[in-house]
Amino acid sequence: MAIPKAENMWVDGRLVPWDTAQVPLLTHTMHYGVGVFEGIRAYETARGPAVFRLREHMRRLEESAHIVLMQLPYTADQLCAATVELIRANGQKRCYLRPVAWYGDEAMGLGAVNTVHVGIAAFEWGAYLGEEALRSGIRAKISSFQRRSANAIPTKGKITGAYVNSVLAKREAKLGGYDEAIMLDENGFVSEATGENVFIVKDGELWTPKLGGAILAGITRDAVLRIARDMGLSVHERDFTRELLYCADECFLTGTAAEVTPVREVDDRRVGEGRMGPVTRELQATFFRAARGQEPRYASWLTYA
Ligand code: PMP
Repeated sequence: MAIPKAENMWVDGRLVPWDTAQVPLLTHTMHYGVGVFEGIRAYETARGPAVFRLREHMRRLEESAHIVLMQLPYTADQLCAATVELIRANGQKRCYLRPVAWYGDEAMGLGAVNTVHVGIAAFEWGAYLGEEALRSGIRAKISSFQRRSANAIPTKGKITGAYVNSVLAKREAKLGGYDEAIMLDENGFVSEATGENVFIVKDGELWTPKLGGAILAGITRDAVLRIARDMGLSVHERDFTRELLYCADECFLTGTAAEVTPVREVDDRRVGEGRMGPVTRELQATFFRAARGQEPRYASWLTYA
């Protein structure tokens, strides 16, 4: 996707014109991958733009930084305020937001601990896997790349360098003619997709890999679990193997970018009826209503800009 530029970015405490937000060649994070980031969406609502679960995203950014021993120079509250300031300054009705924290360029070498910089970009980004995917579902492939284990690079952090693992899996899947890769963990259990959590529906019950496993604690995952429980669905958070995906009645992915995207095929096997199933449809519809400010019971998930 070519990124449509907005007017401003927020960098190190102030708004700057988009094109002036640059990093030097010897930026430590660019060489060794120790940076942390978030992906957040603001939705258009009748009351103006609303950021979905902003505080939880900024808390997760703090946790990611804590995991890699990076001292963020701003609190979660300050970064929430910066996000609102940026959306207002850009006059955006809706956007995708990308906060990122990185080490500067004072010293080289793995042991260097440079100045920490923080930036936030906000830009238009439509359905990550395509509008059609949201309606009809995607074709997924189990990756030949194993999900990195938590003892290799912690999986609970959104750590920039860790995404090489996801990019390898994504490229392999796309080159093979699939839309997305689902990765197995070091024990062979289903973990997550390259930038999404995985769910299945079997006999009216919802299954998703447990938080203690090699997955990111997805904020959309959490929202969907809450909606599912409120719908009265039984939910199982536990390990399962790939054939449960093949034999599921429904399968879908959740993520800030991908939202709630049905999976119609895994490893060339049709999942259920090969289209969006009724449980996925209801979860997706409720999720979108919540994000667009149309579900009073989930009103606390929104921060209006
Ligand atoms: N897993 C990975 C590896 C991700 O990068 C993401 C996107 N942040 C997710 C899951 C979904 O998380 P969220 O719903 O918080 O966007």
